[in-house]
This record gives sequence, structure tokens and C-alpha cells, in this order.
Amino acid sequence: MAAPIGDMFSLCVDSSKVSSYVEVRTIDKIKGKGLFAKKPIRKGETIFIERPLVSAQFLWNALYKYRACEYCLRSLETAEENARRLSGNPSLILPHPEQCRVRKELHQMCPQCQVMYCSSECRQAALDQYHRTLCLGLSQEDPEHPINKLQDAWRNMHFPPETSSIVLMARMVATVKQARNKGHWLNLFSQFCSRTANEEEEIAHKLLGEKFQGQLALLRNLFTTALYDDHLNRVSAAPPSDALADSLGPMRLSPE
Ligand SMILES: [Zn+2]
Ligand SMILES: [Zn+2]
Repeated sequence: MAAPIGDMFSLCVDSSKVSSYVEVRTIDKIKGKGLFAKKPIRKGETIFIERPLVSAQFLWNALYKYRACEYCLRSLETAEENARRLSGNPSLILPHPEQCRVRKELHQMCPQCQVMYCSSECRQAALDQYHRTLCLGLSQEDPEHPINKLQDAWRNMHFPPETSSIVLMARMVATVKQARNKGHWLNLFSQFCSRTANEEEEIAHKLLGEKFQGQLALLRNLFTTALYDDHLNRVSAAPPSDALADSLGPMRLSPE
């Protein structure tokens, strides 16, 4: 059975380029959706290129000041600058500097919070999608800001190597908050949300022990506080809605 139009896959790939190779089909209610080849694919052939819906640096990386575009994660520093910063050795020389093309003349900064972008295109795309809602302005370094508290809590639960970032969730919710057509985005995101999320959490608690129960409750609490806080809504035209509250419910991103 063909997957409904407007699924996450068709949003994240260039559908005109991908359609001849593969298609998304719903297998059944238990397995959910799958990607199926429509014709034989030769070794080495590119079948699709996926753009991330949202992306974010790991929070420990960001804390150690890895310089990357806030939107697309392109490095804003050369490998040599990176190695000098991390080693504390300002005279370190790395071979093949020509392999690191960093175009500093194109870099842009958010004038409110000073986060950096690789280009004006990325700055505008972030602003249009989620940054209007999540820009911390002068509170960028304020440990009491709800978003910073959320990030701090996440870091304290996820020591390196990190495998995910709570910022991805925050950007998804901010995307809905800023979107003109909220129903469209909620519908897309709902494809990620398991209706049995709460049941699964309880199973996880049984397996992992009591301390994780508090962690999930704490994260949920901080997350809700952070994304409903009035001063986060200063620039955003969209007040939180019931539908958005529903979207905040599941903290997990597991496909149905
Ligand atoms: Zn970028
Ligand atoms: Zn900003």
C-alpha cells in the first residue's frame, strides 16, 4: 500500500529525483512504513539524498565550542583551528590545509544571540523555521533561562558519547509554533509519535530502575516550561495551542 502523500520522507528528499528508484509503502500496522526499490539498483548508485528536518550539534560538543553552522552544521573552522583550540597549542600545523575550505567571508551571526551561520541562506532558513522562537537573545549565557536549564539537564543525563540531543525536539516544537500551517506539521510529526509511548516508558523504567523515571519526568517538566515560557513567545506570533500541547506529549521519536 502506498504511503500517504505528505509523509516525512517526501518532505526530506527531492521527490522528483527519488521517485524513479524507491518508494515508501506501508507494510502493515506492526512494521509500519518501509522503503522499497522500484527497479534494480547498481552498486554505488545514489538513490536519494535526504535533508535533515532539523539538526543540532551534540550539547557537549557545543559546550566545548565546536564552531559549526547552527542550521546545517557545516564547520566554521578549519581542522587546524579545531586542533589548535582543542590541544591548546596555537602553533600546531596540520598538513593539507587546502582540504579545509572555510569561507569566513560568508559567515553570518544572529544579531540577537550571536549564534553563527555558514551563510545568509542558513541564517534566514533557521529564522523562518524555528529560530524566531528559540533565539535566546541576551539570555544566551543565562543559566536560569528555561532553554539553558533544559540543555543543562540533558547534558547531565547524557555524557559523551552522546547519541541524540534534546535540541532536536525543541526545534521540532518551535517549527510547529512558527508554522503558518500547524496542522500540516503536526500531521507529519505525529507519524513519529508512538501512541504507546507512555507504556514503553513504563517498560523502560522497569528495566532501567527508578532513577530513570525521575529523569524522564524532569525532562518533560523542563521541556514544557521552556517551550511555554512567555518570553519565548515574544517574537513568535503563535500562542501554544491544544494541538501543540499534544505534540509535546511524547518525548520519543519512534516511528509507528
Ligand atoms: Zn549552514
Ligand atoms: Zn538568535
